[in-house]
Amino acid sequence: MKTCETVAAMRSLRRSWTGTVALVPTMGALHAGHMTLMAEARRRADHVAASIFVNPTQFGDPRDLEAYPRTLDADRAMLEGAGVEALFLPSVGEMYPEGDETIVETTRLAALFHGAVRPGHFRGVATVVTKLLNIVRPDVALFGEKDYQQLAVIRRMVRDLHLPVGIVGVPTLRETDGLALSSRNVRLSPDARQAATVLSRALDRAEALAGAGATVEEMRAMIRETLAQEPRATLKGLDIVDAERFTPSSAT
Ligand code: AMP
Repeated sequence: MKTCETVAAMRSLRRSWTGTVALVPTMGALHAGHMTLMAEARRRADHVAASIFVNPTQFGDPRDLEAYPRTLDADRAMLEGAGVEALFLPSVGEMYPEGDETIVETTRLAALFHGAVRPGHFRGVATVVTKLLNIVRPDVALFGEKDYQQLAVIRRMVRDLHLPVGIVGVPTLRETDGLALSSRNVRLSPDARQAATVLSRALDRAEALAGAGATVEEMRAMIRETLAQEPRATLKGLDIVDAERFTPSSAT
């Protein structure tokens, strides 16, 4: 696997490739969930590039940015094992050159739902993903359904800006007890790790209700009730949306 630390090096490697290219953007601290994206990327393209960049503009809280796990040696080994050909590993200065002032924003979607809880987050995501797509120029780029609104923001941005790339969503990989694999899980204490399973339980129950023809209000009540049973859980936001249009679900 080749590592490219500059835009110029990544561009030059990209130019040497013939055939199709897939890009998997990540923030590192890789786990098996990321590897499902790499495997899907290999199925879809002749060459796979992964990026590791802990993007400062998508973090609201500087302490969260500081505490974000960084495990580069292990990440490299996992990417090698997954058959990734190139790792794009830029510095902050490389991605945001001196005097950088251009942003990309899905103006409606970025402010809604998870965006209302994390102002500026999706603007940071849309901006950095645009940069990555322009640098690597992949035929397809892959993103996890775990970050469902992020996937919707990227699809919208690619459509609106006529970016020449296909966006592929990959289902969430979960632990056997239901917890979605996430880089931040290493920051959970054993108690908090146990408590976090309440999230998937709440979603499973709501899904079962949906299958039985329940209303959105009934699903919402079930989720609130399930979360209330876990004292460590605090509800910051709960939205039930149309999966395609990402508008509040009108199902009754
Ligand atoms: P991150 O490094 O957290 O920015 O994640 C990089 C990509 O991997 C994003 O598109 C995530 O949605 C995706 N991802 C993270 N965790 C999982 C998981 N458990 N299952 C599937 N995809 C995931």
